[in-house]
Amino acid sequence: MSEFVTHDVKRFIVTKPEGFEFTPGQGVEVAINSPDWQDEGRPFTPTGLPDDRVLEFTIKKYPDHNGVTEQLHSLESGSELLLADVFGTIKYKGPGVFIAAGAGITPFLAIIRDQARQGSLGGSSLLFSNKTAADIIAEKELRFHFGDQAIFTCTEEETTSSQYQRQYIDKAFLQAHIDRFDQPFYVCGPPGFMESVNDALEALGADPDSLVFEN
Ligand SMILES: Cc1cc2nc3c(=O)[nH]c(=O)nc-3n(C[C@H](O)[C@H](O)[C@H](O)COP(=O)(O)OP(=O)(O)OC[C@H]3O[C@@H](n4cnc5c(N)ncnc54)[C@H](O)[C@@H]3O)c2cc1C
Repeated sequence: MSEFVTHDVKRFIVTKPEGFEFTPGQGVEVAINSPDWQDEGRPFTPTGLPDDRVLEFTIKKYPDHNGVTEQLHSLESGSELLLADVFGTIKYKGPGVFIAAGAGITPFLAIIRDQARQGSLGGSSLLFSNKTAADIIAEKELRFHFGDQAIFTCTEEETTSSQYQRQYIDKAFLQAHIDRFDQPFYVCGPPGFMESVNDALEALGADPDSLVFEN
């Protein structure tokens, strides 16, 4: 079963294979079980909770790649996926600052939902960068969990709404919005974003954990 989360992101609900276990934030290689696609595994992150009876994936489509994400988005309900073993991505090390761009929020969704359920999200904050407001995954839910500890930036849209900031997440932005750089930083997004955010964080004395999403 799948449904749209944004105009180019779908949530997939998948039967959980017996014995399948994961820690929030871990990834798994997913392939489509069809003759043409079964050998084309791509990494994705389960975004539900580990003890849910089903698995949830939140997947952005890249139509210009003519690849797996495009095929996944056109699957009919009841199609079969192949899941490989889970692997580590970003490990949660306690309250800190989550910094994501676009679909880079996905490993954090699992961690944030798990921490929120345990009532231990206090002390964490979120900086989430997107091109436009229409691209933001799970905005309402993230605002609910983080309240005024979340900042959403829309970098390619003129907006008069005070709900979104216009700036890129650079060194000046980080300095303006973060008061401690000795806390955990969790960063995930496309390569260019990662490079500039990690460089800025390191210059400010932080030691970020990061995961690069190739796209
Ligand atoms: C650990 C990890 C976890 C991830 N979890 C998620 C997740 O939960 N949700 C999510 O949405 N994403 C996630 N990603 C990103 C996701 O894996 C990629 O978006 C996905 O692999 C893209 O697959 P694809 O087959 O559509 O395209 P690709 O495998 O990127 O490309 C398919 C073909 O298109 C070509 N191509 C590549 N880039 C371009 C381009 N710009 N223009 C034209 N052609 C191009 C390639 O050369 C290749 O031949 C994760 C990534 C990692 C590393």
